[in-house]
Amino acid sequence: CGVFGVIGLTDAANFVALGLHALQHRGQEAGGIVSHDADEGFNSARRFGYVRDNFTKQSLMETLPGPLAIGHVRYSTAGSKVAQIRDVQPFFGEFSMGGAAIAHNGNLTNAEALRRELIERGSIFQSSSDSECIIHLMARSLQRDIPERMQDALRRVEGAFSIVAMTQSKLIGVRDPLGVRPLVMGRIGDGWVLSSETCALDIIGAEFEREIAPGEMVVIDDDGVESHFPFRRQKSRFCVFEHVYFSRPDSIIGGRSVYETRRQIGVELAREAPVEADIICAVPDSGTPAAIGYAHESGIPFGMGIIRNQYMGRTFIEPTEQIRNMGVRLKLNVNRALVRGKRVVLVDDSVVRGTTSRKIKEMILDAGAREVHFRIASPPTAWPCFYGVDTPQREKLLAATMSEEEMRQHLNVDSLKFVSLDGLYRAVGEASGRDANSPQYCDACFSGEYPVAPSDMIEKGFEL
Ligand code: 5GP
Ligand code: SF4
Ligand code: MG
Repeated sequence: CGVFGVIGLTDAANFVALGLHALQHRGQEAGGIVSHDADEGFNSARRFGYVRDNFTKQSLMETLPGPLAIGHVRYSTAGSKVAQIRDVQPFFGEFSMGGAAIAHNGNLTNAEALRRELIERGSIFQSSSDSECIIHLMARSLQRDIPERMQDALRRVEGAFSIVAMTQSKLIGVRDPLGVRPLVMGRIGDGWVLSSETCALDIIGAEFEREIAPGEMVVIDDDGVESHFPFRRQKSRFCVFEHVYFSRPDSIIGGRSVYETRRQIGVELAREAPVEADIICAVPDSGTPAAIGYAHESGIPFGMGIIRNQYMGRTFIEPTEQIRNMGVRLKLNVNRALVRGKRVVLVDDSVVRGTTSRKIKEMILDAGAREVHFRIASPPTAWPCFYGVDTPQREKLLAATMSEEEMRQHLNVDSLKFVSLDGLYRAVGEASGRDANSPQYCDACFSGEYPVAPSDMIEKGFEL
C-alpha cells in the first residue's frame, strides 16, 4: 500500500490526491482520503479504483476541505480478497479527546489473535483489515492524548507498519522498529508532508527532509516536528524487495537511487551468470533497469523486445489468479521484428508463480527468437511475505517446490539464472554482501529467515 499526509497547506486533500497518484504503483484497488477543517471537522472519501478516476473530481474534492489530510492507496494482502469499501483506508476512530484517522502500509502478523481478543472484550470491528486493530487498541488505551494512545496500541502489534495518521491538529508518522516498509518526510512552504516514497514528494514540489527512522514516531503540528522512539530499539531490517520491485525507480531509499540499485543488480547478474546472446531485453517495466545494467556489463546491446501497454496496471497486484493469467497478454507484447532469429536474454525482477515468465517465453519463441535465457534480478522467491507484499501460499511459489534446473525445465527455456543473495546485497550497497549472522535487510521471501515470527500463520500450521 501507499500512504501520504499533508499538514499546513490550504486544501491539503488536493496535495494528498496528487501524492497518492504518484504512489499508485503501491496499490491500485482502492484509495481514500480523510481531511480536517476547523469549521467542518473531519471528512472522508473512500473509493474503488485509481486515484485519477476519483480524486480529481472537483465535486468530490470540495467535500474534503482543510489544511490537514491523509490518504491511502490499497493493495490487499491481509483481510478479505473480495474488495469491500469498508476495508478501504484511512480508518477513523472517535476518542474522548477527539477523532483520529490512520492509514497503514504493511501487515500485522498477530492481527488475528488481537482481533479475537478485542472482540471478546467488546470491540465492534467494521472491516476485515488487520489495520483496524490499531484503532480498537487505541480506544482501550488509558493515555490522555492520541499520539500516546497510538504508541500504546503499536507496542501490542507485531509485524510491519509504516503509518500516516492525523488528529484534528496533528499529522503523525510511525515506522515499526525494524523499519520494514518505507516512510519519508518532506517540506513544502510552511507545510509538512509524510509519504511512502520520495517520488510522491516530487509530484507536489516538496523538498525531501529525511526518512522517518525505524521505530520512530513523528508528531507534526503548528509548533513543528516532535520525534519519539516508543519501542525497544532493534537493528533495522528494511524490505530488500522494495529495492527490487516494489518502490518506484525514481525514488530514493536510504540515500540510494532505486533505479541505480536495480541497474546494479543487472551488473551483478551479468557477472554471476553471463551468457552468449545477441540482445538483452527487459520484461517491462519492472525488469528494465536490471536489463540495462546487464547489457552494460555484458556489452550486449539492450533492445525493447517486449513492449508494454501503458494502460494496464501491475499484473501481480490483480487480486485473482484468473485475471492475473489474462493480464500478461493484455499488458505485454513481443516486438517481433526485433527478436526474430536472435538469442535473447530476458531480464525480469522476480519469478513468483512463474505465470509471467511462462507466457512471455511462449510469446517470444512464437515471434521467432532462436534462444531464450532468463535472468532474474532477485533470488528465487521460495517463501511467502507476511509483511505487506502479497506473495501467494508457499505451495504456489515455483521456487518452493522446484530446484533451479526444474524451474528451467518447467519454463522450458535455454537457461535460467537468479542473482545470488550476496549479489543482491552488493547491489543495494553492502560491499561485503549479506551478513549471515545478522542480515542487514528483511529478505525472508528469499531466505525463509523471518525477522518477526509470523505468529498468526504459525498458529494456523505454517512451518518455518
Ligand atoms: P509470476 O508471474 O512469476 O507469478 O510473478 C512475477 C512477476 O510479477 C514479475 O514480473 C514481477 O514484476 C511481478 N510482481 C508484481 N508484484 C509482485 C510481488 O508483489 N512480488 C513479486 N515477487 N513479484 C511481483
Ligand atoms: Fe520484503 Fe520479502 Fe521481507 Fe516481505 S518477506 S518484507 S517482500 S523482503
Ligand atoms: Mg514485472
